[in-house]
Amino acid sequence: MPILDKVLIANRGEIALRILRACKELDIKTVAVHSSADSELMHVRLADESVCIGPPSSTDSYLNVPAIISAAEITNTTAIHPGYGFLAENANFADQVEKSGFTFIGPTADTIRLMGDKVSAIEAMKRAGVPTVPGSDGPLTDDHDRTREIAQRVGYPVIVKAAAGGGGRGMRVVHNEEVLISSIEVTKSEAAAAFGSDVVYLEKFLQKPRHVEIQIIADGQGNAIHLGDRDCSLQRRHQKVLEEAPAPGIPEDLRAQVAEACVNACIEIGYRGAGTFEFLYEDGGFYFIEMNTRVQVEHPVTEMITRFDIVKEQLRIAAGMPLSAAQEDIDFQGHSFECRINAEDPQNFLPSPGKVTTFHAPGGLGIRVDSHLYDGYTVPPFYDSLIAKIISFGESRDVALARMRQALDELVIEGIRTNTPLHRDLTRDRAFQAGGVSIHYLESKLED
Ligand code: ADP
Repeated sequence: MPILDKVLIANRGEIALRILRACKELDIKTVAVHSSADSELMHVRLADESVCIGPPSSTDSYLNVPAIISAAEITNTTAIHPGYGFLAENANFADQVEKSGFTFIGPTADTIRLMGDKVSAIEAMKRAGVPTVPGSDGPLTDDHDRTREIAQRVGYPVIVKAAAGGGGRGMRVVHNEEVLISSIEVTKSEAAAAFGSDVVYLEKFLQKPRHVEIQIIADGQGNAIHLGDRDCSLQRRHQKVLEEAPAPGIPEDLRAQVAEACVNACIEIGYRGAGTFEFLYEDGGFYFIEMNTRVQVEHPVTEMITRFDIVKEQLRIAAGMPLSAAQEDIDFQGHSFECRINAEDPQNFLPSPGKVTTFHAPGGLGIRVDSHLYDGYTVPPFYDSLIAKIISFGESRDVALARMRQALDELVIEGIRTNTPLHRDLTRDRAFQAGGVSIHYLESKLED
């Protein structure tokens, strides 16, 4: 008997295929739901059943909760996997799924709510002993004098952030007191328009941090473990471009200490499922910024260095099983990189949808390709531009990087433009090769 009878995959693209693969391995039947623009997606072809849930616009399809629940009902689904993006961190969706009698593959709606509000997330983390960024310790009020005092104490520059913000939006850096209150007002109105909440808070703007995150997984039955860290500092417009695990050059005792604090926090909040604690790392200090309550795009680099299948474990946890491994079973080995290949112009980064006339995936020892592409597939213009993830593994960082360079040279995608040239360049970049560049490195390199 499979652990779950049937899983509906409420997503598209590479992650939908990733989830389908884990289901197939566990003998779980699969339902693909897709928009009318996506009937040719690879996972739709491979799924046991598929249901069209609406027109191309995500609002009417991948974000259309009633349509997804109906699809689950007519197919007799057991559980729903939200992937990342779309409804993955939508507490109301998690609620709806459970109320309709299906299992939501992820944390409880209450946990998603707690972590979705960055102010309450930071408070919960502080209570659990996770280090956070010095800041307002709660929402900013209309008391401008008090706000000025907080900013003064924290020290300029500061960053004003929307409690409900996400996707790199809803934040503003403030360099001096003259523009503090006006910047807060602008961020508040932007946040109200974008996220339906004008709650904002303030924290120290770290000048040259790295983005280092810790992967955890918990069963909601009192067991939690960490799967180590990842460095995702190479970002453009707050979007990650190239990731690696482990984060290079971090003292082992500090790494272990922060990971343990994350595990304790999970136990304290009764966390269930896969999750990521995101930190800024600067001058030997970790500062929590937010928790993502879902599988991450970059989860494969962690799988490569632990040989632990995160998506399979998500399915097991959803089936009510306890964690399949204890912390001491996790054996960290080697190094892994992931390059996000996007359908976009390598010069101006504008989306480049269209028909892929040729797709040739790289291979060889230590190379993994997570992609829904195939020859003749048309990348629709309606969604995120991520079309492939090239993942490399090696017993050392140098070996993993050398394999990645070769893989990028082998990769052929014709018919559309992609950011592959940027990755080829980055993997030959001296500073990146040395390890430990800050979150501003990529943008400053692109400006040169
Ligand atoms: P989102 O939920 O939109 O991803 P985050 O809080 O994770 O927002 O922040 C996204 C990015 O913004 C971070 O990866 C970092 O590049 C930058 N950032 C956020 N907070 C700070 C800070 N206090 N100092 C410097 N940079 C920050």
